[in-house]
Amino acid sequence: MQSPLQANSIGRLVPDLPSECQCGRPLQSRTHSLSECPLYRTHRHLLGQGRQAQIRTLVGSRQGITHLASFLSKSGAYEKH
Ligand SMILES: [Zn+2]
Repeated sequence: MQSPLQANSIGRLVPDLPSECQCGRPLQSRTHSLSECPLYRTHRHLLGQGRQAQIRTLVGSRQGITHLASFLSKSGAYEKH
């Protein structure tokens, strides 16, 4: 059974823009936003725990996409400021 999204389509879902992060880090990346940035610490639980929070799971299952969408919506990550 194929996953709803291919792992390489994450770029369309969560663009990896070469820009400075709001926290001051010179280069914002998906990894930084989803697992490292202190600005999104309070929303990170929305991604799930362990394997649930891995990018392949987040874009490779309906539940993962739901978690990722919730995180993006509530955290404001990748919103234009
Ligand atoms: Zn940051």
